[in-house]
Amino acid sequence: MTLYREDAVVLRSYKLGEADRIIVLYTRTRGKTRAVAKGIRRTKSKFGARLEPSTVVHAQLYEGRNLDIVTQVETRQVHASFRRDLMRYGRAAILLEAVDLASEEAEPSPALFKLLTGALRELDRAGNPLIVPAFVAKLLKLEGVQPMLEACVECSRSDGLVSLDLSRGGVLCDRCRSGGFMSAGARVAMQHVFEGHVRHVLDTTENSVAEELQSLSSIMLDQHFERRLRSSRVAYEHLS
Ligand SMILES: [Zn+2]
Repeated sequence: MTLYREDAVVLRSYKLGEADRIIVLYTRTRGKTRAVAKGIRRTKSKFGARLEPSTVVHAQLYEGRNLDIVTQVETRQVHASFRRDLMRYGRAAILLEAVDLASEEAEPSPALFKLLTGALRELDRAGNPLIVPAFVAKLLKLEGVQPMLEACVECSRSDGLVSLDLSRGGVLCDRCRSGGFMSAGARVAMQHVFEGHVRHVLDTTENSVAEELQSLSSIMLDQHFERRLRSSRVAYEHLS
C-alpha cells in the first residue's frame, strides 16, 4: 500500500454507507482527489470537524484500489469567520464550487491550489467584495479565457456597452445585447480587475459597483462552465 502526504483544501463531502464520508479534496500536487474518511460520522471520530469544506489540511492518505483513504489530518487553516458571517460563507462556497467545476481528478494545478488557498485566506481576513471578482478573473485566465471588455464582441463598437455574455466572449452594445446587464462603472472596474489592479478598484469603487462586480463574476462563472459543459457534450456526441 502506498502512503502519501498532501496539503489540501476540502471542497465538499458526501455520505457513504453508515458512518463514512467521501471527501473531495483539492490537493497541492495531485489536483482534485476523492478519498474516504472512515468513521467520520461517528461522534468520537478522530477527524472531528477537521474535514469541513474550506478547511486547509495536511493529510496523510493511502492509495486504495478505487478510492484513496484518509488516515490522518492536521489542520492548516480553519477560516473561522466563515462560520460567523453568512456573507463570507456564501463567497467561500462560490470559490470552492468554481474549483470543483474547473478541475478534473488527477490533473494537478499547483497554480489553482495557490489561487484558492490565497483567496480563502484573504476572504477570512478581510472579507472584501472584490475577492470573488479577482478570483474569477484569475481562474478564467488559468482556463485560457480572456473576455473582451473594451468593445462589443459582435460589432466592435466601444460606446453604448450594456451587457456581458461570456458565452459570446465578452461585452455587448445596446444593439447586439445578450446576457446580463452591466453598468458602465462595473465594466471599467472589471477591466481593472482583469488587469490585476484590484487594490486600485478597491480604493476607488463605490460599494454598489463592487456588489455588481461580485454578482457579474458569479454569472461569468456560470456562463463559462455552461459553455464548457455544452462543448464537452458536443464532443461526446461526435464520438458516440
Ligand atoms: Zn454591438
